[in-house]
Amino acid sequence: MTNMTKSSEPKNVVIIGAGPVGLVIAWTLARRKDLQGNPLYNVHVFERRPDPRTTRHADEAYSFNIMLSSRGIKTIREAGLLDSFVREGAACKQLLFCIGGDDVKNGLFWEFDPVFGTGDHYIAMSRDTMMCTVLEEMETISEKNIHVLFNASCNLFDFENANIHVATNGVEKVYHYDLLIGADGTFPFTCSR
Ligand SMILES: Cc1cc2nc3c(=O)[nH]c(=O)nc-3n(C[C@H](O)[C@H](O)[C@H](O)COP(=O)(O)OP(=O)(O)OC[C@H]3O[C@@H](n4cnc5c(N)ncnc54)[C@H](O)[C@@H]3O)c2cc1C
Repeated sequence: MTNMTKSSEPKNVVIIGAGPVGLVIAWTLARRKDLQGNPLYNVHVFERRPDPRTTRHADEAYSFNIMLSSRGIKTIREAGLLDSFVREGAACKQLLFCIGGDDVKNGLFWEFDPVFGTGDHYIAMSRDTMMCTVLEEMETISEKNIHVLFNASCNLFDFENANIHVATNGVEKVYHYDLLIGADGTFPFTCSR
């Protein structure tokens, strides 16, 4: 078994799924520190798909940009990621509705209000770009207390002992956690358990 913690060390957080949600949670927790400036958490993220920096996920199922509205932007701002999202994404000021087979020319434009009165507008970004942006920001964390493992599928929980079984290239390992977070998307494996 891979033991990732001792009692005096930061708490082990295991996150299942390195989509936008899993990565932003990982980034947020990894930056939390105690009063002495030591990291509170050691974060491990397991993602069954490949690293989007080398293999885009887009062709598999996702095609349209994700649109961050005020709630999403608030989260990203609080996480300290807004600058990089604004840099990598596209500001959206209008949405075009085409109803009942209307031609684009006859569509209705809906004007977005600037978010929070700061001049920010909604941000559109592909899922891949979103993930790559957070992964790049993670490189700047000097403590190196985030570990993202790709091609790593969580396939068995042992809640009694707080362990999770992860298969990577046919090899299964067991990881111990203090806190387990399911960020595994629309049909979550975690909720089914
Ligand atoms: C088919 C589909 C198409 C979509 N298309 C769009 C779109 O075009 N535009 C848009 O704005 N929104 C789209 N959405 C919604 C959008 O994907 C979500 O809003 C956003 O991706 C949610 O982020 P997330 O991190 O919660 O989940 P996800 O992006 O789904 O990420 C969850 C991750 O968990 C991983 N995972 C799942 N189970 C395990 C496991 N057992 N072990 C390890 N890893 C695991 C998955 O591989 C996945 O990468 C789509 C959703 C689906 C299901």
